[in-house]
Amino acid sequence: MKQFKAESKKILDLMINSIYTNKEVFLRELLSNASDAIDKLYFKSMQENLGLQLADFSIHVERNENDRSLSISDNGIGMSKEELDQYLGVIAKSDSQNFKELLNKKDDINIIGRFGVGFYSCFMVAKEVKVISKKYDASEAWVWSSSGIEGYTIKEAKRDSVGTTIILTLKDDTEEEHYHQYFEEYELKNLIKKYSNYIRYPIILNVEHHELDADGKETDKTYQAPEIINSMAPIWTKKKKDLSVEEINQYFKDEFNEYEDPISSVFLDLEGNVPYKAVLFIPRKAPYDYYYKSFEKGLKLYSNNVLIMEKCPNLLSDYLSFVRGVVSCDLDLNISRETIQHSKELDKIEKSINKKVRDELLNILKEQRSDYEQFFESFGLRIKYSIWESYGALSEELKDLLIFKSLKEDKYLTLEEYTNQLKAEDKYIYFVKEKNISAAKSIPQAGYLLAKEEDILLFSDDVDEFISKVMSKYKNWEFKSITSGSLEEKVEELTAEEEELLKSIKEVLDDKVEAVKFSSTLGEYPVTFTSSGPISVEMERVLRENPSEEKVESKKTLEINRHHKLHDKLLNIKDKTVELKDISLVIYNLARLNAGLSVDNLAELIKQIIELLA
Ligand code: ADP
Repeated sequence: MKQFKAESKKILDLMINSIYTNKEVFLRELLSNASDAIDKLYFKSMQENLGLQLADFSIHVERNENDRSLSISDNGIGMSKEELDQYLGVIAKSDSQNFKELLNKKDDINIIGRFGVGFYSCFMVAKEVKVISKKYDASEAWVWSSSGIEGYTIKEAKRDSVGTTIILTLKDDTEEEHYHQYFEEYELKNLIKKYSNYIRYPIILNVEHHELDADGKETDKTYQAPEIINSMAPIWTKKKKDLSVEEINQYFKDEFNEYEDPISSVFLDLEGNVPYKAVLFIPRKAPYDYYYKSFEKGLKLYSNNVLIMEKCPNLLSDYLSFVRGVVSCDLDLNISRETIQHSKELDKIEKSINKKVRDELLNILKEQRSDYEQFFESFGLRIKYSIWESYGALSEELKDLLIFKSLKEDKYLTLEEYTNQLKAEDKYIYFVKEKNISAAKSIPQAGYLLAKEEDILLFSDDVDEFISKVMSKYKNWEFKSITSGSLEEKVEELTAEEEELLKSIKEVLDDKVEAVKFSSTLGEYPVTFTSSGPISVEMERVLRENPSEEKVESKKTLEINRHHKLHDKLLNIKDKTVELKDISLVIYNLARLNAGLSVDNLAELIKQIIELLA
């Protein structure tokens, strides 16, 4: 007896003792494995001229109540002894971090719902599992058997034709669980239709028929005859209007292992010089690994009814990497993966798909606002990064897909909607880089602008400010950080004393700041930094948090509130050497801390403040 790998053991334990209410999904998992195995053999046959036809393939579901067995057979690619050991002894997903974390929580509902656990799900309903398999190019067959946690065996077996049969011995019925239902014709038919209707190979079940009498009327005598249960028509051959929303959503969840309904689906049937059909989905939530390097974008690519590639990356721009779906077109079947990468046909399809998905997103933005906001909260970051990474080249294509929270209204606005509220003489789209609305509202300049009924967009992602730089304008309006430069056009008229004071403070701070100014736009706040030049104070903070970035520095102006009592206090300092120097440095360092920047010597600063208080 061989032992399962540690992670597999945990999964098995979860499956065997599962409280998951949707145990029926085991059948979907096994049927989809069978269909994948046939896809693999059919594709091989095309490439290596094995001479197999589409009509040669089928999947059989058989039940035998006497020995409580249910079996699923396919004539797909099969598994060798080593493959049985490798594929069924280890669970593939176990290398992903999130999966491990979930496993430790023993949360079977989340694991089954979010990851799908494939083959092992049969242990939710079976007390014993046998897998008999013969690889397409082998002469011998093997049987893998397991009754759960203890381990599994692999022995030589007899099987005439190539392919795989999974035989489940179902668990005994309990008060809560009626495993018996999986022997019932009605139930099996329903499950196959519900989860596996679009599998392109016939799923065959023996179905009870009544014998007919001489008049063609049904008698009580029955016999069993095989029947194809699934529709077999691939979904892309259907029209959206002929399908119910439930059917479309169910297909999305089964086909792509998703656990929530999509926001929208698009059915395409395009003629043109590269004709293709496609069914595309815009998901609601990002998959757990979406923002990791390991994430692979891509659409399922079929040609002449053969699955060519599970995730073909060339059908989608990176900024649409969240789109899921299937594409069917006619390609040369001898095409290899390398040639797919350079196919002109696929380039044309990609352009067309990009455009259709963008149009659909704009449509959702207009017609289903809250869905769009959910979508954007999941995938907006991808769109923003694409604008930045393209140095703005994609901004024309993507600018109208952006939404930002408005400080005035506390809701999302598009740039179009923001600029619609502007007056002819306005020059700027104001933004503020902060984590959330309430933090943003506590910035002095925000209070000043909001009091004047001006709106400000919240830039809550680090990338937001970078994209405002690469875009620089939306229509005729410039992006302006409320903390860079002065918000007031007019220059403050200062007294000679004030001029003198600012000069002294600037001398103390030296090249730490570009300038020291008095300001009337700080509301109740005593001091703040504004910045000039390409790097704002907020960008400096973000870039400094990233250890690999070179140390950058923004050009800062220290602004002191002219209407705050600090102003008077500073003017009244008699001792222009020691005392003014100390206070200036304290003010400067507190402004740094307030902007989220570090100070050189915190202990020294604390000492100075206490000295001033004492
Ligand atoms: P997944 O299908 O997500 O890869 P599974 O746990 O369902 O994960 O299956 C593991 C592997 O076992 C599959 O990737 C496949 O290589 C192999 N396998 C499972 N069922 C079959 C089958 N009926 N025929 C051939 N290979 C199979």
